[in-house]
Amino acid sequence: MTTPAPSLQLLTAARNLSLLGLNKGTSGNASIRLSDGFLITPSGMPAEQLSESSMVYMQWDGKPEAGKKPSSEWRVHMDILKARPEVNAVVHCHSMFATTIACMGRDVPPFNYMIAAVGGDHIRCAPYALFGTQLLSDTAVSALQGRKACLLAHHGMLSLGKDLSQALAIAVEVENLCEQYWRLLQLGEPKLLSVEQMQEVHAQFTGYGQWAK
Ligand code: 13P
Ligand code: ZN
Repeated sequence: MTTPAPSLQLLTAARNLSLLGLNKGTSGNASIRLSDGFLITPSGMPAEQLSESSMVYMQWDGKPEAGKKPSSEWRVHMDILKARPEVNAVVHCHSMFATTIACMGRDVPPFNYMIAAVGGDHIRCAPYALFGTQLLSDTAVSALQGRKACLLAHHGMLSLGKDLSQALAIAVEVENLCEQYWRLLQLGEPKLLSVEQMQEVHAQFTGYGQWAK
């Protein structure tokens, strides 16, 4: 089976983010690594208006393809792809529950073993920074250390993958965990797994299904 062109992979991911309800309107963006740069969704375009030719090619120095306007978050996509050689795709969304927890400025603790699928023992929430800025990129890259996702305070979430389908799957999982965490918070303070229990989960995950460690 041949792999679809990067522009088609990106279009499919942007449409799926909308179909899954993770992004609405012009919220969010996505990118995919190329050999000599990366391809990113355009700024301020809803998924239903996108086509393969809307995607913007960017060089590693941050220069966009002539005549096109890349996502305002191109810095964070570029910086993650530079900092994380194992990552080939980045997804950003404003999904309901991840954004709700992010607006509380909370990390998501190990209340459920599936936190381990995101890497580490908790999902970090990066401190607030204005959208589209270098500061947002710096705080996000730091919150993503050793992780495949993070929350962005008062904003949304970022997820990473070896390809776009994995980055999307992580976004779905983080949204699911944040909904569970939100529901648990209505009942009181959730009980957490111990460091030892999480170590056991990480060991059990090695080689499990499609979750690359
Ligand atoms: P863009 O439309 O420029 O990608 O911005 C959407 C967004 O989510 C900003 O954080
Ligand atoms: Zn955003």
